Amino acid sequence: MKEVVLIKNGEIALKGLNRRTFEDILTKSIRRAVRPAGEFSVTRAQSTMYVLPQQDNCDMDLAVRRLQHVFGIVALSRACVVEKDLEAIKQAAGEYLKPDLQDARTFKVEAKRADKKFPFISPEIAREVGGYLLEQFPHLKVDVQNPDLTVVVEVRDFGAYVHARQLPGAGGMPYGSSGRAMLLLSGGIDSPVAGYMMAKRGVELLAIHFESPPYTSVRAKQKVLDLAKILCEYCPGIPLYCVHFTDVQTAIKDNCPEEFFTVIMRRMMMRIAQALCEKTQSKALITGESLAQVASQTMDAIASTDAVCKIPVFRPVIGMDKSEIVAVSQKIGTFETSILPYDDCCTVFTPKHPKTKPRIADLQKAEEALDIDSLVAQAVEKTEKIIIKADD
Ligand code: ATP
Ligand code: MG
Repeated sequence: MKEVVLIKNGEIALKGLNRRTFEDILTKSIRRAVRPAGEFSVTRAQSTMYVLPQQDNCDMDLAVRRLQHVFGIVALSRACVVEKDLEAIKQAAGEYLKPDLQDARTFKVEAKRADKKFPFISPEIAREVGGYLLEQFPHLKVDVQNPDLTVVVEVRDFGAYVHARQLPGAGGMPYGSSGRAMLLLSGGIDSPVAGYMMAKRGVELLAIHFESPPYTSVRAKQKVLDLAKILCEYCPGIPLYCVHFTDVQTAIKDNCPEEFFTVIMRRMMMRIAQALCEKTQSKALITGESLAQVASQTMDAIASTDAVCKIPVFRPVIGMDKSEIVAVSQKIGTFETSILPYDDCCTVFTPKHPKTKPRIADLQKAEEALDIDSLVAQAVEKTEKIIIKADD
């Protein structure tokens, strides 16, 4: 039986004049997502997109699984394609949905007639198909309020479609439709989640990682590469910029008061990340900070890092508890990698008593001992770029 995936794209439908642009970007994401599953055509009509296999050997299970990771898709249904003929629709419903109908005790039929030339109106279609299914599956009862199974029949311009189970999509906005931003990616739990959340809102991700060899290990870096790769399940690829940060940290340790070490280090991270944003036309930074989680994430500490930022800093997990962030990281598959116990550069030279309420004026004074511009320039120059891609 010929199948199709019907896609509902939620928020995009509200975009008015820009809708086209969003739909074009989504179409590209859809094509890319199903490519490993065979040759498919992607078309759209009204607020639905159709992903139709072009060969018999297309892997529909894989296509559906991959489509569930495409941002901009709210829900999808795997449906069978039928000729626009009531008898054919009835039979297709009985055959295509047989396992579901056998498992269910109660059901209802919902009909949608978009093609107004079809000779039966929606209630008639529902009644006819419902009556047929009751005959074929005598154990079934109709329950319009709370059925085990809702059989959906859609009669549209190019054909009729029968399906029963709507699957959840990844939600959000099409990847890349909101512009490009630089994710500060550590090996922890929070920053991969932050990246995922912004990618979900349509942000194209670039990532920057600060490493401090020999204090941080090759395995710690590999962990970050692995995390970026897991994020690639939701996007085509991530350019990862690895910054050699040891010299900057050493300069801070040797020249600034210990109590300010962490906050000045974070200000340096933001400066270097912004320099890379300029080079890559990225318009914002993304971090995994959560208010009050640690000393460097108090309101004053965040204000003092923001003070050196000229572009917006997105902190999507700022109001989330650790347990809520963990739940997302488990859902997206980064958790197990994030908890591997390797050192991050932030744990190198950590002060015994960090200032939780640093004053910006005091920080600026302390930073006078550093040649900030040349530290930033050297760090940028030593940056290694690695393109991370999903294995298709
Ligand atoms: P995470 O779980 O994301 O590591 P965290 O709770 O450990 O976060 P911090 O270590 O204070 O918090 O870091 C706060 C944010 O700063 C991180 O979420 C990340 O965005 C960024 N960050 C920290 N260390 C690095 C690093 N080595 N490279 C890039 N970004 C970093
Ligand atoms: Mg960390």
